[in-house]
Amino acid sequence: MDIIHLLPDSVANQIAAGEVIQRPASCLKELVENSLDAGAKHIDIIIRDAGRTLLQVIDDGSGMSPTDARMAFERHATSKIREAADLFNLRTMGFRGEALASIASVAQLEVLTKTKDDEVGTLLEIAGSQVLKQEVVQCPTGTNFKVKNLFFNVPARRRFLKTNSTELRNIINEFYRIVLVNPQVSFTLVNDDELLFDLSASSLKQRIDSVFGKSIRKGLASQLVDIKAETSVVSIYGYIGKPEFATKQAQQYFFVNGRYMRHPYFHKAIMTAYSGMLTADQQPHYFIYFSLSPELIDVNIHPTKTEIKFADEQMIWQILQAALRESLGKFNIVPSLDFDREGDLDIPSYGGHNIGSVETPQVRVNPQYNPFTEHAKRANTDNWQTLYSGVQNPTDAATYPIDTPQANDEAVLFDDSLLQATPSQYKDKYILLPCQSGLMIIDQHRAHTTILYKQLREQMSTKKAVKQQVLFPEVLDLSAEDSQLLIQMTDELNSAGFDITQIARNSFSVDAVPAELGNNNALAVLLDIIHSAEETGIGTKEQWEHRIALSLSESAAIPAGKTMQEAELRDLVGRWAELHDKTFTPAGKRIFAVISDESILKLFS
Ligand code: ADP
Ligand code: MG
Repeated sequence: MDIIHLLPDSVANQIAAGEVIQRPASCLKELVENSLDAGAKHIDIIIRDAGRTLLQVIDDGSGMSPTDARMAFERHATSKIREAADLFNLRTMGFRGEALASIASVAQLEVLTKTKDDEVGTLLEIAGSQVLKQEVVQCPTGTNFKVKNLFFNVPARRRFLKTNSTELRNIINEFYRIVLVNPQVSFTLVNDDELLFDLSASSLKQRIDSVFGKSIRKGLASQLVDIKAETSVVSIYGYIGKPEFATKQAQQYFFVNGRYMRHPYFHKAIMTAYSGMLTADQQPHYFIYFSLSPELIDVNIHPTKTEIKFADEQMIWQILQAALRESLGKFNIVPSLDFDREGDLDIPSYGGHNIGSVETPQVRVNPQYNPFTEHAKRANTDNWQTLYSGVQNPTDAATYPIDTPQANDEAVLFDDSLLQATPSQYKDKYILLPCQSGLMIIDQHRAHTTILYKQLREQMSTKKAVKQQVLFPEVLDLSAEDSQLLIQMTDELNSAGFDITQIARNSFSVDAVPAELGNNNALAVLLDIIHSAEETGIGTKEQWEHRIALSLSESAAIPAGKTMQEAELRDLVGRWAELHDKTFTPAGKRIFAVISDESILKLFS
């Protein structure tokens, strides 16, 4: 008996949908890419319940004839390629002809479409691959696509969806990847009746700014420099972040021929160009656009994958590397006025210099706090302009014999004599302390950060964090994306001493802050925490607590630039010496170093 038979189309399409349409965000991507392929100049996106109940895309593109509208939902139906050779000369986003068939098999669809040559348009209703209705209607030129109740007939898929806030975040990320490479097209995005984005057609730089300017990264454009390379093989253009604006949660985008891509190898090229300018946990912003002949890339990999193969990656790596160096190097002739840098500090100076009161270590507060510039000061970026101009960095560690202590030296280093010695302060930033084997140099900010971190973690685990009510509750207005994150973190933040309540969709009231923090930079610290969450996504409770405690302690710790009296220095050294791990901060930064007696002798030989 023969047992093999062909699957009905509806089943085959559902199987394909399992791969192409994994979540609302992938469905939206397919719809918007179709609109772009249809030459749309304006695209409205309307979603409900993070796309679960409604994903609607309205474009002013070419529209479809009645027959094409019907055909579009057949598997392998496409207007974009005709033969295999076309695959290697792709100029459209789509080409597989399977997205609409897939969507139609797992949702209820309503499509209105009209070409400019037709008087009237077509209305189509489809559910689970079945055409329910096809009518002639009046409608504007273009296509209006409604996807309702995604996965209505695939409960297993529906159950796999994450919370609305996560799905919305995925949608917004997908949206970024599209709008950042189509600045000539205007977009709106409405979620649950709220206008999240309203982007007019603009230059690329303006687009970058209007996408991120709405969120807390105000004025991203001013932190960027151009990058440009024209060769016969590839042209590269775009923007890279000035090193001092590098951050834990950088915006990093590669695009090739109008398509977002991930490219770990080219990412490495960027990190190489920046090496020496950033600390381990810092990443530069970048928006880099490659354009090259379609024959030289292969996008014919899986539709949901964003990796793209290039014919000669090594050569492009070289070109990219040269362009990066040129941009970073060229920039060194620009006066450093706009850097807002202070002296040669390489760690945060939260409060600046000239602090009057010195009784107890006080949190110095900067009302102009800006997470970007503060991050900047944390970075070792001060010499970056000279890196590519052949000038020797005078503070290069190699010039001075600094010995980094090994773990087994610690017993020798931390004997009682250390606490007897008289500490002194160097450049309002380091504590100098004679020790058995030489001269110990302790970074005051890092030592204090580590002390506070330990204290905070203990308070958080026993829920004994000390809250300080604020007189005038601060209101925090966030981007949609950041609001979702904050909602998920509220419990942990509140156990660390905050008192945060959501007052409107993207608005939060901060009624109390951890007592250590003082009032004024509470908001900045909160934003910092949200940023670092953005980068790593939703982690475990332990990861949250670590990040929260780290941000709080970094911002509450005695800053570099604060003059300290001997008693304060002794107190700090004493508390630091009691720590279990004295060598590194919880962020992995070195707290102290020793210049050995031998090294000092050598200096005078
Ligand atoms: P692909 O994009 O790979 O061709 P799809 O299944 O996404 O496959 O779309 C099938 C076809 O439907 C497209 O090739 C195009 O001709 C037509 N189409 C889809 N969306 C639109 C739209 N918004 N405007 C005009 N035509 C469209
Ligand atoms: Mg398509």
